[in-house]
Amino acid sequence: MTAVLEARGLTKRYGRRTALRECTLSVPEGRVVGLVGPNGAGKSTLLQLACGLLTPTSGTLSVLGGRPGSGPAQLARVGFVAQDSPVYKGLTVAEHLRLGAKLNAGWDAALARARIDATGLDPAQRAGRLSGGQRAQLALALALAKRPELLILDEPVAALDPLARREFHQALMAYVAEHGISVLLSSHLVSDLERTCDHLITLVGSRVRLAGDVDELLATHFRLTTARRDPGSLPGELTVVQAQHTERQSTFVVRSMIELRDPAWRMEPIGLEDLVLVHMAARDTAAPAASRQEARS
Ligand code: ADP
Repeated sequence: MTAVLEARGLTKRYGRRTALRECTLSVPEGRVVGLVGPNGAGKSTLLQLACGLLTPTSGTLSVLGGRPGSGPAQLARVGFVAQDSPVYKGLTVAEHLRLGAKLNAGWDAALARARIDATGLDPAQRAGRLSGGQRAQLALALALAKRPELLILDEPVAALDPLARREFHQALMAYVAEHGISVLLSSHLVSDLERTCDHLITLVGSRVRLAGDVDELLATHFRLTTARRDPGSLPGELTVVQAQHTERQSTFVVRSMIELRDPAWRMEPIGLEDLVLVHMAARDTAAPAASRQEARS
């Protein structure tokens, strides 16, 4: 498996504040990777490190096999849309495209124009007059016209209404389906990413809490309901991520490579949002063994 992003013991501190701590990660190529985690978890910091806008305090980070921001060739391979889709308010849509063409050697003018047409943006409109959704579409068109191998998006839909969110994701997915590039996008809401991503990284408290293919995560997490019992009495194949008890009943979220059948309990699949929220809620405990292994692999 080729990795588009490979981090080993990656740490970033701002003064005395640690934004990322000892992160070890491998992001596979050709995937749409969701980076989720609560506000302040370190998502923007990781994405800015990947673009070369920040440098690590310690550890190593390689993106597409090179050091982020190490030169024009490396910069050209990575497209980045920062939070709130920043654009030049005083410039028109068409002027943005002309600027993009001047600043990027590999600029695909036909692609840029096609995307502007497809999203119905008026080339003569000043960016300051665009809606949030239109601004995000412009920023996406500008990033894609660079023809990057990796597209990085920091909370691209956070400020958009539900319809604009859907339109943005549809535009992104249509491009990915056609061109097969790698995408890394962040959100503090799993629901934003659920339909879009096939790989998920969860950051909690500046550490990687969970990482893996969405299919694999869903196939290995279950909700298990039994008569009240101690988590320690469950079979060793099950890693307990969360335990909740009433007087008579226990409900566990467990991680297991196989679905264990036992007449004494009910074991059911769990949705992606619940799965991630359970891992986030477990922030004060050590990451389960399987996650630690993934984080190391
Ligand atoms: P997220 O994107 O998940 O919300 P960030 O990467 O923005 O998280 O921030 C991670 C932590 O680093 C937070 O505690 C935040 O306050 C801190 N932080 C981010 N940027 C700076 C900065 N420029 N100076 C000082 N602290 C910062």
